[in-house]
Amino acid sequence: MRDIAAELEARREAGLYRHRRTIDGPQRPALNADGKPLLSFCSNDYLGLASDSRLTEVAARALTDHGLGGASSHLICGHHRAHHELEKKLAVFTGHEDALFFSTGYMANLGVISAFAGKGDTVFSDALNHASIIDGCRLSRATVRPYPHADTDALASMLADTPGHKLVVTDGVFSMDGDIAPLRELARICKDHNALLMVDDAHGIGVLGEHGRGSLAHLGLSPEEVPLLVGTFGKALGTSGAFCAGSGLHMDYLVQKARTYIYTTAMPPALAVATMKSLDIVQSDDWRRSHLAALVQRFRAEVSAMGYELMPSNTPIQPVLVGSNESALALSRALEEQGLLVTAIRPPTVPAGEARLRVTFSASHSEQDLDRLLDALSNCRPLASTPEIRSFAAV
Ligand SMILES: *Cc1c(COP(=O)(O)O)cnc(C)c1O
Repeated sequence: MRDIAAELEARREAGLYRHRRTIDGPQRPALNADGKPLLSFCSNDYLGLASDSRLTEVAARALTDHGLGGASSHLICGHHRAHHELEKKLAVFTGHEDALFFSTGYMANLGVISAFAGKGDTVFSDALNHASIIDGCRLSRATVRPYPHADTDALASMLADTPGHKLVVTDGVFSMDGDIAPLRELARICKDHNALLMVDDAHGIGVLGEHGRGSLAHLGLSPEEVPLLVGTFGKALGTSGAFCAGSGLHMDYLVQKARTYIYTTAMPPALAVATMKSLDIVQSDDWRRSHLAALVQRFRAEVSAMGYELMPSNTPIQPVLVGSNESALALSRALEEQGLLVTAIRPPTVPAGEARLRVTFSASHSEQDLDRLLDALSNCRPLASTPEIRSFAAV
């Protein structure tokens, strides 16, 4: 039998052991974590909507009107009018013909990839794609060919020497680096090589583009150029669930084929109602995106001046590169001693030797919150003199 206890111990020794904190109360920057007040810079609640009272009020009313449970899968009797209306609203929001409401982004990626690629087909996947995409590729039983991160030349030559049905899949905004995929180039290459392009815009929807329409809008791409778009609700939209948008034909195909859509209970209709409200707020509250951009800009300027190594990201995902697992944990701990919650991200979530702090911003952070983060990071600079923290410049 496998020695599970020894495996856990080995993880601890490698600085890879993962620990959960228990949060009380609503999700917002001022968190109560394990009974301790901490100012958080690590959630994906980019627009600060997760505890917005307009959403909770609409959801409470919808609970009274529609009850709580989803009761069955969509194809039995769980497909509620609220789900259906949300899908129509998502189609308008994304500019695609139609959309389908999935329970989570993880399930959307599993379902969409395994529906559109199978045995004998090839899926081309960016090396830094999210774990749910990697798992979707595995589940599909297609041949999987990872391509070097954002390397469109490499992808083009791989596509050129592969016959048969081809699916290319990429994050819109990379979740651990914060950079945006070269979508315009990808769309062109896919068209040239007759490959289907799928973009998972979990971190772009609500954050980028005019009125928060996402990475495609940000880069001026049409729905035809990106035939399959996945987005999630648990991040900028502040609710829960996910969607795939595309042509009516593609969505119809998913209803028939996507096993993570077919074989699961429909989400509570109240959640669909709240998500519709959130879509309205996302589009009307442009100030949330401009405030967010201002926070990011100031953070980048001041933190690089301190000598920390940032990554080329202009999104609310602002990794501070550290290097070793131990150093990333040490910096995270030093920040926590000053009342800040910034998690260390370690392998296998990121490549070995690229452990980092993943700082994320939310529109609900104030300038004073940012002051506190900057002060704390400034105080941590002496850590830079310990040799194992590789990338910190002169202090
Ligand atoms: C968070 C995330 C998902 C998963 O979405 P959930 O709704 O949380 O399951 C999928 N793709 C990317 C890129 C993500 O960051």
